[in-house]
Amino acid sequence: MNAMPSTEQTTESRKTVLFCQECEYQAAAGGRWIVHEKADCAVYECPRCGETVTIRDRFA
Ligand SMILES: [Zn+2]
Repeated sequence: MNAMPSTEQTTESRKTVLFCQECEYQAAAGGRWIVHEKADCAVYECPRCGETVTIRDRFA
């Protein structure tokens, strides 16, 4: 009984693309965002309109 229906790899986490809800600006998580690192999350600020996109950091 070797049921392994999903062999998907989740290595794309390093290539996460973030989208701004306000102006539809998009860039990679390591791209041109203004990043404010907090204790339990990271706040990405859109360099175009200033909207904030909060990302919970599950890795650290
Ligand atoms: Zn924006």
